[in-house]
Order: sequence, then C-alpha cells, then structure tokens
Amino acid sequence: MNVLKIDRQIKSNIERNFYALGTLNHIQIFDRFDEKLLDWAMERVFQIENMLSVFQNDSDIAKLNQNAGRGFVPVQAETFELLRKSLEFSELSGGAFDVTIRPLIDLWGIGKKESHIPEEEELFRTKKLVDYRKLILDEKSQSAALIYEGQAIDLGGIAKGYAAEEVKRVLVENNVKSALINLGGNILAVGTQTNGKPWKIGIQNPMAPTGQYFGTLDVTDKTVVTSGSNERFFIKNGIRYHHILDPRTGVPARSGILSVTAVCENSTDADAITTSIFVSGPEQGMELAKKMKVEVIFVTEKLDVIVSEGLRNQFNLLNNEK
Ligand code: ADP
Ligand code: MG
Repeated sequence: MNVLKIDRQIKSNIERNFYALGTLNHIQIFDRFDEKLLDWAMERVFQIENMLSVFQNDSDIAKLNQNAGRGFVPVQAETFELLRKSLEFSELSGGAFDVTIRPLIDLWGIGKKESHIPEEEELFRTKKLVDYRKLILDEKSQSAALIYEGQAIDLGGIAKGYAAEEVKRVLVENNVKSALINLGGNILAVGTQTNGKPWKIGIQNPMAPTGQYFGTLDVTDKTVVTSGSNERFFIKNGIRYHHILDPRTGVPARSGILSVTAVCENSTDADAITTSIFVSGPEQGMELAKKMKVEVIFVTEKLDVIVSEGLRNQFNLLNNEK
C-alpha cells in the first residue's frame, strides 16, 4: 500500500534575510506566497545600494565624491531626488543633519577596524569640509556639484528609509497587503496582520543588544524607525564613540538622547528625522517632529522615555525587571 502524507507545515509567511546597505535586512510577506516577489524586492535593495554606496566606485555617489571641487556630475533621477530631500532636512534641522558628513565619518573610521579618536587639528580641518550649503543641485541638468575638493556625500542617514519605501512599492504594486520590511532597524509595516489586527513592533532598548525591546508599538500601515548609539561604536577609556556625528563639533552627538524612534507614513522622512533629532536633542527634536507631523519616542540619557501625544494609546512600555 502506498501511504501518502499531507504537509504538516501550514505556511504563514515567506521571508528573506540578506545583507545590504551595510546592515542586516529582513523582508516577510504574510498574504502571498510568491518567492519571486521577494527576489524582486531584494534586487531593488541591491540596485539602490549600487546607486548610492560610497564604497562602489561606479555609484552615483562615488562619482560625485571623486569629482568634488571639479564641477557638476550628472546623476540618476532617484539620486537627485534623494539629495534634494537630504538638503531639505539639512535646512529643517538647522544643519544637524548634513549629507556632506562623509569626510568626518572617514576620519573617525567608525564601524571599521581602524576607528580612532582624531587629533584636534585634523578634526578642525575636516569639519570645514562638512557643509551642505556647498552641495549644489541643478534641477535642469539633473546634476550635482560639491564645491570643495575633499568634500564627500554620505547618504547613510537616509538611504535605508528610501530603500524600505521602494521595497514597499514593489510589494504593494503586486497586491501584497500584509508584510513587514526591516532594513537594519528601519521598519515598514505594510497593512495589518492577516487577522486584521495591527502589527506589534518592538522598540530597541538603547542599553541592550540588538533585539531587546523596552516597549512595543501597535501600528497599521506605518513606518517605525529608530536611531540609536548602540549599533555602531567603539569604546576608548570608558567612553563610547558612536556613528552619528554632530556636524558642528565633528564629534559623536551627545545631545542627551540615547535613542529616538519616529512613526509616520514615509520611511525616508522617518530615517532623516531620527538622525536629525539624535543630533539636535530632545527639545529641538520635539519641535522638528511637530513641524513634520511625525510621532516620536525618545529615550534620554537619564533613561526617561518621552512619548509624543499621538502615540500614547499605541505604545506599551515593557517591564524588563524580573
Ligand atoms: P543607523 O544607521 O544606525 O540606522 P542613522 O539612520 O541615524 O542610523 O544613520 C547613521 C548614518 O548616517 C551614519 O553611519 C553616517 O553614514 C550618517 N551620518 C552620521 N551623522 C550624520 C549627520 N549628522 N547627518 C547626516 N548623516 C549622518
Ligand atoms: Mg537615519
């Protein structure tokens, strides 16, 4: 007799884990079991990386950086748009967000083996190169120019948000109504869970390793983006030097905030806003959030958790004490 067995595993989602944009990424789809779709979504992230990475010699951004001080360089429409948006956030944040931060990032070497505390003189010299007003965009020719030699662009503070938006677009255009996109902590929750309930998103505890949460947020069709000092850093003499720099001082931002989470519709905006607020601190940060109609959660250095009005009913503080 031929005994057949039915598949005991009931499929509830399909997913991909992959490395891109300098970080770990996770895409899950809950209502369509189309593996091709995941491949397309992943491919889209790699395309964006190829276009924006400072490390790939033929990317738009690498070309722009190689030609700093030598006039205009044509870029793809998407790159142009992202540079434009970056400048908008630089203006809005009064320079806390600065897309020309790259020379300082290189100087510190944060996230690399050769990270070190720079000399005062080096810092002073490099800081002068960081100035978003010296990035000129020409709409008509879709090209960009960095005025000074030695200047360089770094879209690290906004690119993951943009990539998350693009992944969402690929999924939604293909009829996905229930998905979770997590690009290195930039989360985009598409629709609701398949049972119609909101997603429950964990908010990273800035004092704990990745994956440990201090609270959860219930969201439907929203992005939840956190910037914190616990991801990339090095420690010297007991001081933690992390990867978000204050363009005005040239050193890792110490604004009184350990982490900031933004909740809104658009992941690109949320990414740029969290980086901006991390640098500007809680007071200016709250003003910026209000102006941009973004809800926020701050964890301060005193470990106070500040939750903006619009999130009071969606946020749950987890009690971690046993
Ligand atoms: P994460 O990468 O941990 O999600 P962010 O979105 O805040 O955090 O991005 C940090 C990255 O942004 C840095 O690695 C660097 O590439 C870039 N960056 C650092 N400081 C600034 C700044 N003041 N303005 C704009 N970009 C910055
Ligand atoms: Mg950011």
